[in-house]
Amino acid sequence: MNSKHFVSALMLVAQGVLAGAADAAVTALVGGTVVDLGGGPALEDAVVLVDGDRISAIGARGTVDIPAEAERVDAAGKWLVPGLMNMHVHLGLVLPGKMAAELAGETDAALALRMAAAAREILQAGVTTIRTPGDTRHAELALDRSIRKGESQGPRIHAAGEALVITGGHGSEPGVLYADGPDELTKAARQQISLGAKWVKILISGGIATDGGAIAEALMTPEEINAVVDAAHRFGAKVAAHSGSSAATSVAVDAGIDSVEHGYTLDRKVLRKMHKAGTWLVPTIVVSQPATAPFFERIGSPQWYLDRRNSVGKLHWEALKTAIEEDVNIALGTDQLPHEPNDGTTATVREAEYYVEAGMTPLDALRAATIEPARMLGADDESGSLAVGKYADIVALRADPLADIGALRTINFVMKGGIVYRNDDAR
Ligand SMILES: [Zn+2]
Repeated sequence: MNSKHFVSALMLVAQGVLAGAADAAVTALVGGTVVDLGGGPALEDAVVLVDGDRISAIGARGTVDIPAEAERVDAAGKWLVPGLMNMHVHLGLVLPGKMAAELAGETDAALALRMAAAAREILQAGVTTIRTPGDTRHAELALDRSIRKGESQGPRIHAAGEALVITGGHGSEPGVLYADGPDELTKAARQQISLGAKWVKILISGGIATDGGAIAEALMTPEEINAVVDAAHRFGAKVAAHSGSSAATSVAVDAGIDSVEHGYTLDRKVLRKMHKAGTWLVPTIVVSQPATAPFFERIGSPQWYLDRRNSVGKLHWEALKTAIEEDVNIALGTDQLPHEPNDGTTATVREAEYYVEAGMTPLDALRAATIEPARMLGADDESGSLAVGKYADIVALRADPLADIGALRTINFVMKGGIVYRNDDAR
C-alpha cells in the first residue's frame, strides 16, 4: 500500500468511527421518578433521554420529544438516582488470614483477572464510579484503560496507583517498596502519577490490617506529608491519607491534604478543623461495625486482626457521628469490595445505611454516595447527578431513597455511560 492509499484507508476508518458515534444509541427511560439531590420535590412520570453516553434531556412526560428510533425502557414505579460512587475500594484487596494464604503467589495475570471480575460485579451492584486509594501492581490502571476502551466491563476508576508506605508503617508487607523522607516520598508520588494515577495515597498513622504502629499515632512526619502533598498538587493530582489519628490528621489538614480515610479515632477538634478546611472524610465505617463480622469470619481473619478491628469500633462510630454533627464533607467509601455481601445487601448500601444511623438524613446519605464523591474527585461537572450533559450513569430503585435509604437495597437497573448493564425487569 502506498502512502496515499494508506491515508485514504485511515480516513475511512475515521469516518467509520464518526458514523458510529452519530448512530450511537438513544435510550428513553420513561415513567420513572427522578430523585432531586437538592432536596426539592422529585420529578414524577419523567422522561430521561440518553444520547450516546450522556443525558440529553430530562423532563415530565410530554415535555421531552422522544425520537422514534429511541429504545424505550419502562421505568414506571421506579426511582431514578445517579450511579453510586464508592471512594475507597481496593480491587486487589488481600486481607490477613485464610484469604492471604489462598492468594499467596498470585501472578500478575491472575490478579488482573480477579480485578476484572470484581469490576463487573461492582457495576452490577449499581456502583458506576470508584476511587482506588492504593491498589496492587498497577493492574487497576490497566483495567481502567481496558474499561475505557470498552474491552472490559466495570465502573469509572479514579486510581492512586500503589500506596506510599514508610518503613515499618501501615501497609508494610513483603514486596512493598518503602519510601522514607521527603525526597523518597516525592519521587514515589511522581512515579505513581507518571503511571497514570490521579490520586496519591499515603498512610500517615497505623491501621487495622497491619500488626505494627498504633492506630492513633502519627507515623509520618510533617515534612514527609508536606512533601507528598506539594509534589502531587503540582501535577494536578490529589492526595488521600489513611489516618486513624487526630494528631496525624491535624498535620495532614495543615499540609492541604484532600481526603482523610477511615478517621477511626478523630476527635471533635480535628473534625472542626477539617470542616473549616473543606477536607473530605471517607469513613469506611462498615469495616469496624457488626455488619461485617461474618465477612471477617468468612475470610478466616486471625485473632490479632479481629482484636485490632474490635478495638476501634466504638471510637470509629463516635468519630463518624461527630463528623456528621460538625458538617464535615463526607464521601462514601467501604474499604471492602463495593458488592461484598453485608447484612443482606452490599457493603456500599450498608455503608450508606450506617450514615443514616449515625445522624445523616437519607438525602445526605444519598448525596454522600453520589454528588459528594463527584465533588471530591473534581468530576461533578460530568457525573454525580442526573442532569443534561452529564454521563448517563443511572440506577433505578423500587422505593424512594429519601423516605428510607434502605431503598438502595432494591437496585434493579444499572446504566453506565448510556449502556444498560443490568435490567432485572427486561425479558
Ligand atoms: Zn483501604
